[in-house]
Amino acid sequence: MKNMKKLGFGTMRLPLTDPDDVKSIDYEQLCRMVDCFLERGFVYFDTAYPYHGEQSERAVKRCLTDRYPREKYLLADKMPILRVRGTDEYPRYFEEQLARCGVSYFDYYLLHNMGRERYVNTLKYGGFEFLYKLKEQGLARQIGFSYHDDAQLLDEILTRYPEIDFVQLQINYLDWDSAAIQSGACYETACRHGKPVVVMEPVKGGSLAKLSAEAQAELTRCGAAGSPASYAIRYAASLENCFMVLSGMSTLDQVIDNTSCMQEFRPLDKAERGMLARVAEIMNRDVVPCTNCRYCMEECPKNINIPGYFGLYNMYTATGKKTNMYYERYSMNHGRASDCIKCGKCEGICPQHIEIRRNLEAFADLYERKTER
Ligand code: SF4
Ligand code: SF4
Repeated sequence: MKNMKKLGFGTMRLPLTDPDDVKSIDYEQLCRMVDCFLERGFVYFDTAYPYHGEQSERAVKRCLTDRYPREKYLLADKMPILRVRGTDEYPRYFEEQLARCGVSYFDYYLLHNMGRERYVNTLKYGGFEFLYKLKEQGLARQIGFSYHDDAQLLDEILTRYPEIDFVQLQINYLDWDSAAIQSGACYETACRHGKPVVVMEPVKGGSLAKLSAEAQAELTRCGAAGSPASYAIRYAASLENCFMVLSGMSTLDQVIDNTSCMQEFRPLDKAERGMLARVAEIMNRDVVPCTNCRYCMEECPKNINIPGYFGLYNMYTATGKKTNMYYERYSMNHGRASDCIKCGKCEGICPQHIEIRRNLEAFADLYERKTER
């Protein structure tokens, strides 16, 4: 579709009838949201096998594909590579997804949540070759993968599989320089390989929709006309190589707010960029100034993922939210923060002179204690 508007409807945070039950999707409300989104000229919908306790794809069928002709929308879905245990499971999942969504092909099809561990299994079971076959058969028009790891691995994958059409990356104005997420480095890697980018988490799971009082005051001082979320979405959409920004919308008001700022999309101007840089500065204050050089890791006898953990620590300082999922992922093949034996070898080599032991202790206290903060 030519001149496609750059906002996609993410279906991982749909409205619920029971806030404690992720499966209790409010179909009536969702139909209204889908109608509003399409009426305003937006066409891209993104779902995945596990969203909403496996009910998101079915909700897409009920509220979108059963109600609109196929040419009225574009649908993206994702292979749950975490669950795949053998080559023959790819076609089984794919067929199931087509049936769940009520379509005969996907416009965009991705390997879901690619990262170091999943990459090993995907290589073993031929996941990329399966994608190529889908494209040949016209069952997936564009093929890609959503990605959650470092820029180095992304480079490796795109070098090995240059036929991939696009990548989906976590990008927002807080994570751009983050050592943990590496938004900026991953985006630049995708650009180097000539791959268009779909942006996920532009509002960082909602963190950039509701700012701290001080950050909000900066927006007010600058006379910001839009909502905080609208600036976060426009930040991502302003990236030249980004062709779609996903927003996981939960209410009709959010659909109206998000679509309003993207109907006649205007990239951020210099003053707006400056404003967001200051907001990021406020939200990132008191961070551990780790540059992710990883020198410390070469010295650490416990193989602790020091820069990764500091990235998560900084994210918590900025947003007040913990991301336990990332900690579990980062510590899978590394020592945990509490494994530190305080030998001090890392501090001897850190070019930023960071008090690594003290900061790791604080991080362990935050992430490993039993009761949630
Ligand atoms: S002080 Fe801790 S983090 Fe640093 S090298 Fe020793 S064990 Fe690793
Ligand atoms: S050596 Fe220092 S700056 Fe480099 S990754 Fe380790 S903690 Fe970060």
